[in-house]
Amino acid sequence: MRNIVILTGAGISAESGIDTFRDAGGLWEQHRVEDVATPEGFARDPDLVLRFYDMRREAIQTKQPNPAHEALARLDRDWDGELLIVTQNVDDLHERAGAGRVLHMHGTHLNAWCTACDARTPWKGPMIDRPACPECGARSLRPDVVWFGEMPYEMDRIHTALRQADLFVSIGTSGAVYPAAGFVQEARAMRVRTLELNLEASQGSRWFHETRQGPASQLVPQWVDEVLGG
Ligand SMILES: [Zn+2]
Repeated sequence: MRNIVILTGAGISAESGIDTFRDAGGLWEQHRVEDVATPEGFARDPDLVLRFYDMRREAIQTKQPNPAHEALARLDRDWDGELLIVTQNVDDLHERAGAGRVLHMHGTHLNAWCTACDARTPWKGPMIDRPACPECGARSLRPDVVWFGEMPYEMDRIHTALRQADLFVSIGTSGAVYPAAGFVQEARAMRVRTLELNLEASQGSRWFHETRQGPASQLVPQWVDEVLGG
């Protein structure tokens, strides 16, 4: 085994206290997804959307990586083969734990995207006051987060990595949101070994060769020990 592709989802960040739109009572519950996470919602009420993402951006900066993030960072550091951590999460907890080989398929809270010049700029502060783009000066920044109805980033690179993988591991994802939910079937079609680590059986569990259930903060360090020790 030389080549590992990992998909991470909300379940790995939940243990760091980052809620998702699927959590009952979570931040998203006070807003309809259509209002705060679609291009149409942004066009309709940009203040609402910018304020919502300002809150999310501020909140994630108060959270810390957990043992699952730390274990994947250790794998990234010590694994000599190919590795790609594809994350659906828009926080930076993989990076803050020390992982480098990370691809944010749904973008990141910590970038501003200028819709005038297409520049992406690291961004930690608010956008509600329409700050100027550092590149072109236009006041056209939006969160660099992929909304519903928009195309996830770097799909070609992800498909290529899946085709070349020896092992595909899905961590903390519901198996409900495409295209990520289809990665396991794509991997299976290429005879890639597949493993799921999730808190509970997911909608996609039946597609995996092996499924382990439990908290990511326990399962992921155990699995990384197996990979690096074996
Ligand atoms: Zn610009």
